[in-house]
Amino acid sequence: MRQIRTFSEERNNGWCVYCGGQYETDDHSPSRVLLDKPYPENLPVVPCCRACNDSFSLDEEYLACLIECARTGSAGQGESMRSRIADKLIRTPSLEARLASARIETDDAVYWNVEVKRVRNVIVKLAKAHAAYENSEPMLDPPTRLWINPLCTMTREQREHFEAPINTGVWPEAGSRVLHQIVVAAEGDYDWIEVQPERYRYLVAVGDSVVVRIVISEYLAAEACWD
Ligand SMILES: [Zn+2]
Repeated sequence: MRQIRTFSEERNNGWCVYCGGQYETDDHSPSRVLLDKPYPENLPVVPCCRACNDSFSLDEEYLACLIECARTGSAGQGESMRSRIADKLIRTPSLEARLASARIETDDAVYWNVEVKRVRNVIVKLAKAHAAYENSEPMLDPPTRLWINPLCTMTREQREHFEAPINTGVWPEAGSRVLHQIVVAAEGDYDWIEVQPERYRYLVAVGDSVVVRIVISEYLAAEACWD
């Protein structure tokens, strides 16, 4: 994964990137539950308060398990399931039961009754962390637009648009990582950053809006915008 040291880290280290509260601990974003071992070196870390740090972990666990269940079509410990998620379901029968009851099978497809609030909570958290990390500019308000869907539900045109680098024609804040990215790329495009192959990638683009795109396990896609 590309890791470029920012010059403006100290400036924004004084507060939680999620709520603007006091900086009390460091938060890995993406959370390790969304990744496999061995973890990549230099995982992005953002400052946050303890209350925010504690408030996300159960929802992140739920989302990680939901994605594996939806990806493999099973609510149990499916064969092609990531091993740490299969282990998690064995150790957490209540979560396994909850996911099993959310599974709806019809003659031609399997659907999942998604706990939308929990999924949104995690995606907004991740998007805020990536925006703060890449652009050194915390986005404390909720995004003005948020879109979350499996990649497989996109049309070809939607997918091409989603996957393409973004060129906003606007230079980001001096000292931020995206500015370094642009200098390195020398193209003016905001491209995808791969945290772990097949597991997690994201893109942050800064222009009139701040756009964050996320793909988890090459299954779930999301886009958050602050206009
Ligand atoms: Zn906070």
